[in-house]
Amino acid sequence: MTARVALVTGGTGGIGTAICRHLAQLGHKVATNYRDEAKAKAWQDAQRKEGFEFALARGDVADPAAAEAMVREVEKQLGPIEILVNNAGITRDTTFHKMNALQWQEVIATNLGSCFNVTRPVIDGMRERKWGRIVQISSINGQKGQYGQANYAAAKAGMHGFTISLAQENAKFGITVNTVSPGYVGTDMVMAVPEDVRAKIVAQIPIGRLGEPDEIAYAVGFFANEQARWITGANLAINGGQYMGW
Ligand code: NDP
Repeated sequence: MTARVALVTGGTGGIGTAICRHLAQLGHKVATNYRDEAKAKAWQDAQRKEGFEFALARGDVADPAAAEAMVREVEKQLGPIEILVNNAGITRDTTFHKMNALQWQEVIATNLGSCFNVTRPVIDGMRERKWGRIVQISSINGQKGQYGQANYAAAKAGMHGFTISLAQENAKFGITVNTVSPGYVGTDMVMAVPEDVRAKIVAQIPIGRLGEPDEIAYAVGFFANEQARWITGANLAINGGQYMGW
């Protein structure tokens, strides 16, 4: 298997860490971004203790200039980016009639704006080299909507619109673009939800439990694989059977 350079945004988070590790186990050189240097170094040290080496580049994915600088820094450290995983994301949950403009804008800028901000400085090189893998980490709630998440669901549904347009534009350049839509995974984001609400969520999952970060990472490795070259514009739902639509 060809070793590639991968950038995973939000790699220090629950799902992101699993994606970084899985891509490294597949033999790729992996970088992620950070905003808080001390937190990122602690994460990097913890990964080293477990035998993983990851490059770090400062970058806020919601900010176009910062995202471009982050991409250039990764290229400087590891070389041209061949696999891009747009994974960084946040929630600012509240029902729409209580939502303020900041809660809307932050979620759209971080979850959807980031797809432009990070992919734009990466795409030209992929097109020139005629090879690339781009994977968006969307969400079940972008597929089915969710009470209290009009901002998040709009951003996550938008990510798939982005995927299927980019897939068409870049198919002739050896670049595949796909979406992974996880259901509820037991990371900090979901463990922050009150326990009684979580129990109600689990009750809706036919497999009967929350997902594990590794189960999402596996799908990213699949899309990044050389042999996944005829799969583009796909959305892979990984949700324990909670939602079986598109
Ligand atoms: P975490 O909260 O554990 O991690 C989020 C990561 O994104 C962190 O590394 C965080 O970095 C980074 N991040 C957030 N905002 C920015 C920003 N502006 N610039 C750069 N990095 C940023 O989340 P998960 O691992 O649970 O989620 C990962 C992705 O999966 C998200 O897109 C989420 O929406 C999606 N998802 C998660 C599900 C779940 O059940 N957990 C279900 C469906 C989808 P920092 O430490 O600097 O904040």
